[in-house]
Amino acid sequence: MPVVSEQLGFAGMPERLFVCTPSKLGAFEDCPRRYRYSYVDRPTPPKGPPWAHNSLGASVHTALKNWYAVSADRRGPGALPTLLKSTWVREGYRDVDQERAIYRRALEWLETYTSGLDPDDEPLGVERVVATKTAVIAFNGRADRIDGRRGPDGPEAVIVDYKTGRTGLDADDARGSRALALYAYAAERVFRRPCRRVELHHLPTGTVAAHDHTPESLARHLSRAEDTARDIVAAEKAVAAGADPDEEFPTRPGSLCSWCDFRRSCPAGATAAEKEPWAAITP
Ligand code: SF4
Repeated sequence: MPVVSEQLGFAGMPERLFVCTPSKLGAFEDCPRRYRYSYVDRPTPPKGPPWAHNSLGASVHTALKNWYAVSADRRGPGALPTLLKSTWVREGYRDVDQERAIYRRALEWLETYTSGLDPDDEPLGVERVVATKTAVIAFNGRADRIDGRRGPDGPEAVIVDYKTGRTGLDADDARGSRALALYAYAAERVFRRPCRRVELHHLPTGTVAAHDHTPESLARHLSRAEDTARDIVAAEKAVAAGADPDEEFPTRPGSLCSWCDFRRSCPAGATAAEKEPWAAITP
């Protein structure tokens, strides 16, 4: 009815929830301009060539996802070459020799990593989307793995995130990760059991960096995510009202620029050192 649609425009009506993922929030927190290029500007400005480290990360993540998709009696080292080959992403490597060497490296990581897993273990979720709402955001994100474990007070959920970058990670990385905290907050509500522990599983070193959140630390992460969402909405509204998009979504030049997909479209990125697409996978 027309009356209803007019009423929706009244001041005082609740604001629409800001729909977001960890990458969307992270893009704005890293650099508002990068957020604008990724999520606001249409058509999207041209991106640079694909990165080998992204191809490697995607290949390993999908192989691990599919490792859990086969029956428990087939989850052995013999299954890994097929799993990795069928999900291998070829983009970004310097040449076939480099790609083959990295494939072998990735296979070794997977062999070592899966040798420490119980093949009979069925996680609560693998590449599982968890979602939740607050008064400000409608959050959804895909967790690499959500384990069901027994804690001192009964069943718990644990967020597991696979990492394939060159550098190792420590407990501060696990504690500071907004994405992991938001997954934990959402998983607790989806699975109706405590989810406080978050873990970064770094395949190249076989190490696990973990943090045990409290309800307070999860609430702090959530509150910061809401602050970011408010900043994004304010910038988008200002642009819609005629403000200069370059001022509302300022550049934030720094070490990330060399790795930014929009480096060539961004005035600040143009001065950053150019990296070869395979730079992050070479020793
Ligand atoms: S090149 Fe740097 S300043 Fe420009 S959008 Fe990317 S991260 Fe931001």
